[in-house]
Amino acid sequence: MQIHIPTPLRAYAGKQSVVQVSGSTVAQALKALTEQYPELRQHLYSDQGKLRSFVNIYLNDEDIRYLDQKENAPVKDSDSLSIIPSIAGGSPVAEAPAAALTPEEMGRYSRHLILPEVGEAGQLKLKAARVLCVGAGGLGAPLTMYLAAAGVGTLGIVDFDVVEASNLHRQVIHGTMDVGRAKLDSAEDSLRAINPNVKIVKFPTRLSSENALEIFKDFDVVADGTDNFPTRYLVNDACVLSGIPNVYASIFRFEGQASVFATEAGPCYRCLYPEPPPPGLVPSCAEGGVLGILPGLLGMIQATEVIKLILGQGEPLVGRLLLVDTLAMRFRELKLRKNPDCPACGTHPTVTKLIDYDQFCGLPPKSAEPAAVVNGIPQMQPTELKRRLDAGDNLYVLDVREPYEFAIAQIGGHLLPLNDLPQRVKELDPNREIVVHCKAGGRSQRAAEFLAQNGFKHIYNLAGGITAWSEKVDPSVPKY
Ligand SMILES: [Zn+2]
Repeated sequence: MQIHIPTPLRAYAGKQSVVQVSGSTVAQALKALTEQYPELRQHLYSDQGKLRSFVNIYLNDEDIRYLDQKENAPVKDSDSLSIIPSIAGGSPVAEAPAAALTPEEMGRYSRHLILPEVGEAGQLKLKAARVLCVGAGGLGAPLTMYLAAAGVGTLGIVDFDVVEASNLHRQVIHGTMDVGRAKLDSAEDSLRAINPNVKIVKFPTRLSSENALEIFKDFDVVADGTDNFPTRYLVNDACVLSGIPNVYASIFRFEGQASVFATEAGPCYRCLYPEPPPPGLVPSCAEGGVLGILPGLLGMIQATEVIKLILGQGEPLVGRLLLVDTLAMRFRELKLRKNPDCPACGTHPTVTKLIDYDQFCGLPPKSAEPAAVVNGIPQMQPTELKRRLDAGDNLYVLDVREPYEFAIAQIGGHLLPLNDLPQRVKELDPNREIVVHCKAGGRSQRAAEFLAQNGFKHIYNLAGGITAWSEKVDPSVPKY
């Protein structure tokens, strides 16, 4: 039978997207897979041999947690198993009709007005609707542009970022001249150019447990365009607590996921993934890369679902997870169930208020002062590394990024990619002072922890990675 391997795990499965195995139950098939590719084991199973909670296994289109025999369910040769890890994105929601359409609006929306599923009544619903987009980045760009064009009356956008050159290959709401501007201001200009009738409400802030419910209360639908796990769980929980649908999408390299969560009858994100993966295991788009069109595709799927929810038309992606693989150009769909034991939307929820999501996702708390030590690893600031190198200190700079990243930018470190470290650790001197770096500090922290566990005495992590080096020490080092 076939097992579909998701992009983040293909590195541990001989770079294959599909692996053929034999076995007569799900458990046997997975055993055959991990015997063939032993490195996959730690990603799929905990040390106690249980399937990890941030990895779901589907037999054909059904989550095995909902099969009577679960992992012992029988399989046939023609069946397929899919490994679906969490990846670093109803009913009519707008009731109050707005005032009648102006003659200008009649002309603008005429191709909507002649669709029986929209018509003037639907267009008025769109005009009355209030949609909040969390993030004005890759997903937020097509999402807000198409919602504005479609005539959604009020668009809220939460974002605190500034446009960077590396955003432009996918965040098409921003132009070359916008580099350095606040994304909110740049997005506002583009949206006004598309449709001046839309009211744009800007929230120049990081969405947090302190402000989320206050911001959400004035909106009918939330579209999650975030790129990190703490905010994704925050958006989900705030939607469940506020009773607002959460139109979700997420993207990674060439693949995306989309669904509609937190409707009254349907599941929420926590029904799918009760817990986040440990930090660093799933790379972000900044680390793993992303095909520029991918957020365009997924953001437009989100926009479609938002509009369907507002109109009360069609079949929303409630209880379904859409998987998009752009390399194969294949769309697949998996069933999602509302989990009665879900901590957020189950019958006895334990999430009754918003929590500390950084802590929940295993990240150090955000503070004004950079942490001096994380998990026992001293964090070295780029300026300190520069000072020590200039002073001629005998430091060994270890670069744990991939060779293609090394080719883009480097600071004279010795290249040894994180995944090769366990096999090549003997090449390093355990008594030497070693400063480990990667792009942003996440992978290097894992490498530093690995080295410390293996008896290395003087290990530092370069805080913020080569990106921080470029910002604080040497701007001639390209940021990517
Ligand atoms: Zn739930």
